[in-house]
Amino acid sequence: MAELTHPPVLCYHRIGGPLELGVTRVGRSVFARQMRALARAGWRTLSLTEFADSPAPHATRRTFLLTFDDGYAALAEHAYPVLADLGFTATTFLITDYVGKTNTWDVRYTWNRLQHLSWTDVERWRARGFQFGSHGATHSRLTWLHSSAVCDDLARSREVLIHRLGQDAGRAIAYPFGALDGRVTDVARSCGYEVGFAGVRGNGTSLQLPRVPVYSWDIANVPFGLRRDAIGAVGTLVAHAANRCAVGTSIMQLVRRRISRLQESAADA
Ligand SMILES: [Zn+2]
Repeated sequence: MAELTHPPVLCYHRIGGPLELGVTRVGRSVFARQMRALARAGWRTLSLTEFADSPAPHATRRTFLLTFDDGYAALAEHAYPVLADLGFTATTFLITDYVGKTNTWDVRYTWNRLQHLSWTDVERWRARGFQFGSHGATHSRLTWLHSSAVCDDLARSREVLIHRLGQDAGRAIAYPFGALDGRVTDVARSCGYEVGFAGVRGNGTSLQLPRVPVYSWDIANVPFGLRRDAIGAVGTLVAHAANRCAVGTSIMQLVRRRISRLQESAADA
């Protein structure tokens, strides 16, 4: 196996709350059991600062970076308190246009309108050592946007985070859908991001770090992303395939954007 240069990174989305048709929701009790089991087995979470500033010394120990994408409000109810009790921390990537709002960006499988964390929630948990970063301003698939639109999205998101939470919150980006290419990472770098999180296949460079998503079927005590055996390898492969399937969401976004553009031009005519 290749030498690890960074400790493993797990990525959860929703914890608890209403069921959905998709695969990104992990039950509250499953999450709590996994975190307790990891703590018992000697695992420790890293802050984003520890991870970004000195990754190598941590890579051989039982340490990992725990991340959440999308910033749903239920995290403050179902996930953060569990972590705080264990002395764990996490980094959450916020969709900055949707902080304090409902999930109109997410047209996939959630029948319910879900609330995102508010700035008050974010500031409260930040004061307890939790960290935050960008998941874009609008949760757009960046590889499908013109460079100027990628730049608008990423720069605006970073500016809001720094303004609200300080310079540290402008360091990291988790690309929506894990979708990136050289152009996207170039823009991210020029906007000032130092660390970028991709999907399972990230190449390990600072703006394309791999993460293993934890999906609804990943219910054993140790999630696939922290296992170094064959089961972990297969689970990681499946997570990669499932992430690719999430392209359906972006196609819906694209269709919706095209339709609204057509409607605008019809109204102008
Ligand atoms: Zn997301």
